[in-house]
Parts: sequence; structure tokens; C-alpha cells
Amino acid sequence: MQVAVIGAGYVGLVTGAGLAYLGHNVRLGERDPDKLETLSAGEVPFFEAGLDRLLSEGIDKNLISFYADNKQAVEAARVVFVALPTPPDEEGAADTTYIEEALDDFGPSLGPGTVVVLKSTVPVGSVARFQAHLDGFGVGATVISNPEFLREGSAVGDFLHPDRIVIGTRSQEAAEVMLELYQALQAPVVVTDPASSEMIKYASNAYLATRITFANAIANLCESVGADVKDVLLGMGYDRRVGFHFLNPGPGYGGSCFPKDTRALVAIADEAGYDFSLLRGVIEVNELQRRRVLDKVRAAIDLDGATVGLWGLAFKAGTDDIRESPAVYLAEELIAGGATVQAFDPEAAPVEGVIRVDDPIQAAKDADVLLIATEWPEFQSVDLRAVRDAMAVPHIIDARNILDPDAVRRLGMEYEGIGR
Ligand code: NAD
Repeated sequence: MQVAVIGAGYVGLVTGAGLAYLGHNVRLGERDPDKLETLSAGEVPFFEAGLDRLLSEGIDKNLISFYADNKQAVEAARVVFVALPTPPDEEGAADTTYIEEALDDFGPSLGPGTVVVLKSTVPVGSVARFQAHLDGFGVGATVISNPEFLREGSAVGDFLHPDRIVIGTRSQEAAEVMLELYQALQAPVVVTDPASSEMIKYASNAYLATRITFANAIANLCESVGADVKDVLLGMGYDRRVGFHFLNPGPGYGGSCFPKDTRALVAIADEAGYDFSLLRGVIEVNELQRRRVLDKVRAAIDLDGATVGLWGLAFKAGTDDIRESPAVYLAEELIAGGATVQAFDPEAAPVEGVIRVDDPIQAAKDADVLLIATEWPEFQSVDLRAVRDAMAVPHIIDARNILDPDAVRRLGMEYEGIGR
């Protein structure tokens, strides 16, 4: 099928490369000239495991091409995916300006019967609103919702083996086009109305953010009552009604989705006249969580003039993405308090004011405290003796609970985790 994808970021590029892998012909529209140059050279402009291979396979088979002009990208497209940013506005609601501008740009060029797919996370009611917008051009295109659930760090696998596909449309014809497009994927498909589809995305992210926050709240309570949250969550997780996923205490959730989508859902609820106090509580507890980690560092050292070793800057392991990263928040607060922060992260983008070093031991060198802020698996196999010997004061604050407290303490180091 002839497909266009507008926006070659995390979602758009994975979608485009994934659809090419399924045999579709994909034209990607991207307005950032630097990204476009990198992509045209067959390279991925960010880190996502396995995406480079998928992309180069698609390019080699002549199934992927890139365009600076969206009007060219949508030429002859049966389906146009919109994978543009929807950042929060001042009230926390999702700002859809990028989408509106893009529709103004390529909308008049669409052929009759084109299916325009909102992949971006958009407020409930967006399909109806953008349908009216496109109807203004008289092109006969149908707007539908098909939210994206991929996780950065495992995005390629998530595209190829989704837990489910959600299609929100009242048009039988558009739904059939989408079923044909995704035919090769083995996944349950939920076909529903647009508003329900849009809500599924927000409700899923809000629920996952709530699980993380619940685990953090239990961890905080464990600290007060002398329980070990690792064992508590292990004991809870074996209950099949609970499970283990998304119950890992840490410095709070971050990234480009959970913080923005939880705030956007509260804004949606406010507008609808529903007081979503549960979710407001989640957001507040999440903000307090990263401050709790900061307080642990402050309690360990006087920040002014101190050196803090930092392991991790990405918002989670497996990605270079630092958007709303708790690690970056911590680094910035530590620097504002007068500390020097020397950080190691295998993939993360640069962070202003943070000294980047090439390995975890260098990050620990002469440090007054070592803070673990991202759960990169390789941190678990670093030689802790070398860490101890490198540090000025052997003290580790493990905000991801990835080290074994006994092993650290046996080496004569101080150890603090979250909830243990
Ligand atoms: P992103 O910022 O990585 O990518 C967006 C891309 O669109 C950028 O490359 C940008 O240069 C490009 N762009 C902006 N305006 C353009 C225009 N007019 N024409 C062409 N290109 C343009 O964003 P993302 O992380 O891929 O997120 C996109 C959407 O998907 C958001 O609504 C987000 O909430 C949602 N989402 C993201 C994830 C995720 O894990 N990142 C997961 C699910 C859903």
C-alpha cells in the first residue's frame, strides 16, 4: 500500500520503517533539515535498538523515501500517518498546533478517500475536529484515530509485535483499509469510535503512571516502617491480579509521554467537569518523588563545592531520550546547589552544565557521592571495588534499586536505595 508518514521522530520513523518491513511503500515527510540529511544518508538520527537495520533494509528495497515537503510526501498516499509532537500547553492540555499547521500544508493535496491517521496522542474529540478541518478543503479524506503504544527502547519489537491495535473510526471503509495495512501483524484489534480510541491511549498511560507512582508511594512507606520494597513488590507481584510490570520504585516517571499525557488527561477531565483527583494525586506524588531523591543527596553531602558522580541521564534505560528525565532534573538541581556533576550515560543526548565522561568509573572519580538515576543494565556489572577506590567518599544513592545493598556495604561503602 502507498503510505505517507508526517514527522520522522521516534513514532513516525519506527512506524515508517515498520510499515516498509511489512512491504508497504512509505514516503516520510520531515521538516527538520538536519534530521532529513541524516535520514537521507540511511542513518537514524536518534538511538533506538534495531531501527537502523529496519530503516536500511527499507531503503535498500526502495520502499522508503524522505521529503522536506509534506505535499510531496502525501502524493498518491492511500493512508497518511500524522506522527507530530503534541506538547503540553500552559494548562497542561495537549497542544495540537503542529498537526493543524501540517494539515493546512498537505491537506489540500490529499486525494479522495485518503485515510488520515492520527498517531500522535491527541485530546478526545480531535478526530471530529480535524475531520471538520479537512472537510474545509473539500478533498474527501477521512480522519481516524490509531494511537501508538510503542515504548522507546523496544520500539521496533513493539511495532512488529503489538499487544493490540486500536482503530477509532465510524467509517467501515477506513477501518478495512487499516486492517489490510496491518494484516501481517498478529495482534488483537479493537475497532471502536474515535473518542473511545483517543481515550484508550490516555487511560493506558495514566494507568501505567499510576502503577509506577503506587510502587513509589509503597517504597516511601517501606522506608518509614523498616520494610524492604523489593521483597514487598515481589510478594505482591506473584498475585496474578497484580503482576510485576511497572512496579519498580525509582525517581518518578519521566519521558516525553507519561508526564505530558497525565496532565493532558486531567485537563480533559477538567473540561468535561470531572474532578480526576486520583490522577492529580499521581502527578503530585511523582513530582515529590524526584525531590525525595534530591533530598537524599542533600542529606548525604553539602552540595556547595561537592562532586557528584551520576550514572544515567536518559529518562529510562534503552533510549537516548532526555525529555522530562528525572536524571536531568536531578543533575540540574545539584548544579544549581553548587555541585559539580560528572555523568556517564551510554546513549543520552548532552545536558548543559553536566560534565560527560566515558565510563562509569570515571563518573565516580573523586566523587563525594554516586547517584544512580537511570537503570542501564550494564551498571549492574561495574566493578564496585574500582568504584569505591575511585570515590572521595564511598557513598552510593541508588535511585533505581539496581545494586545489591549487601554487596555494596560489604565493600565498606554506604548504600541507600529507594524503599529499602
Ligand atoms: P518527536 O519529537 O520525536 O518527532 C516528531 C517529528 O516531527 C520531529 O522529527 C519533528 O521535526 C517533526 N515535525 C514537526 N513538525 C513537522 C511538520 N510540520 N512536518 C514534518 N515534520 C514535522 O515526537 P515523538 O516522540 O515521535 O511523538 C510524536 C507523537 O506520538 C506525540 O503526540 C507523542 O505523544 C506520541 N507518542 C510518542 C511515543 C514515544 O514513546 N515517543 C509513544 C506513543 C505516542
